Amino acid sequence: LNRFREFGPEARSRDLEGVLDLFEGASLSGSGESYILFVGSSFVQRMIEERYLSEIILVMREVLDNDRIELTVEVLPQAKTPQRKKKAKESPQQDKSKSLSGVLSMSPEQQSTWETHLSPRYTFSNYVVGMCNQFAHAAATAIANNPSNTYNPFYVFGGVGLGKTHLVSAIGNQMKSRFPSLKILYITTESFLNEMVTAIKFSKMNEFRERYRKIDVLIVDDIQFLSGKERTQEEFFYTFNALFENGKQIILSSDCMPSEIATLEDRLKSRFSWGLIADIQIPDFETKIAILRDKMAQEGLALPEEVVFFLANTVKTNIRELEGAMIRLGAWGNLMGRPITIEVARKLLSDILPTTKDLADVERILAEVAGYYGVTSKDIRSRKRTRSMVVARHMAAYLIRDIGHKSYPEIGRELGGRDHSTIIHSCKYIEDALESDPQTMSEIEQIKKRLENRS
Ligand code: ADP
Ligand code: MG
Repeated sequence: LNRFREFGPEARSRDLEGVLDLFEGASLSGSGESYILFVGSSFVQRMIEERYLSEIILVMREVLDNDRIELTVEVLPQAKTPQRKKKAKESPQQDKSKSLSGVLSMSPEQQSTWETHLSPRYTFSNYVVGMCNQFAHAAATAIANNPSNTYNPFYVFGGVGLGKTHLVSAIGNQMKSRFPSLKILYITTESFLNEMVTAIKFSKMNEFRERYRKIDVLIVDDIQFLSGKERTQEEFFYTFNALFENGKQIILSSDCMPSEIATLEDRLKSRFSWGLIADIQIPDFETKIAILRDKMAQEGLALPEEVVFFLANTVKTNIRELEGAMIRLGAWGNLMGRPITIEVARKLLSDILPTTKDLADVERILAEVAGYYGVTSKDIRSRKRTRSMVVARHMAAYLIRDIGHKSYPEIGRELGGRDHSTIIHSCKYIEDALESDPQTMSEIEQIKKRLENRS
């Protein structure tokens, strides 16, 4: 284990802490070339198998200097979660369908064909895991592989385009393939509402309720849309309770915490918080690169490294947008048969990039420069001459010219009615500094970066 700790690249040291927890109470047995690692639960088993096993084997082979070493992970016998083996003789179906484990033990033939409404393209295998979604992903795989309602409901939240629909759908798809007898239903909150409205209109509420009470795993996407819809909230409350009481798994996604959904009844807020809540955060640069590489491989696209970096740098948060940008560039490359450079990328993506106009906005440049030097825009326009105000004024003049392409007299007017020769002097001051002091370049870059980030 120590060896593993040492061996893991620095970059993953935070990841490793999680790994060490996983080994709590674990023990290794075996000899020669075959070993078994006993762990405390099937969740831990799954985590290790999916994410770390190959690496552990590599380390063991290195440490023991034997390339044929094999390792399997098993759950300690006493900790084993109840097995759900199919039994030859089944008790009547109506009893069985009462609980999740009952359904799990039914043979697939006992199930009629069931429409899940899941999109098959969202799976765990094409979901990239990074710091931003590590926890949500671990919980999701645990639930998918072992739907024993330990985490019920499972509530995932995060911003637009960060992969909530993908993750909750992946749970459903994985469950479907592992436990074909489960009745899984994916539905958006909007569809739930529409179905309910139709049912009310045609006096079919009983059928509507019946249908939902039959489900084993209910996945409701974008639950924040319950906000302000009282009748739907009430109906959902009953559906939730009926399923929950029968031990059925409920999976919800939202763009915020349960407590933050405006005008959501307290009783629902509280129920949504009963199980496990996991958030998905904005992906970091490395995760965006990993996602891009993964998607390029899937789509058979090859973008140059620098363009991939450019994309990851430019598209700040939304993974859907990142993906869209990549596809657009790839399509252009294929159609035109020309290499994609950063220049081409800039042109093709001009609609999602911060526009020059945004960046060149004088007020925003002033605000950013002022913030950077710890003064205010008003200070910059004033006649005051403290050291930081003077530097900020020179920098503001330089940047308004550089990004905003304004003339010296125009800049003079913007900066509190100064003479154009004063502005020339300011710009010259920064240009000279650029030659003599490397610090100046990095200051300019930082301010520009902040301006871009604000867009
Ligand atoms: P949300 O529901 O949060 O708005 P989606 O699940 O629709 O976001 O994700 C938007 C797009 O980004 C989808 O095409 C999805 O496949 C992709 N995506 C999001 N997160 C990831 C990820 N971690 N790995 C791979 N693709 C992702
Ligand atoms: Mg979504």
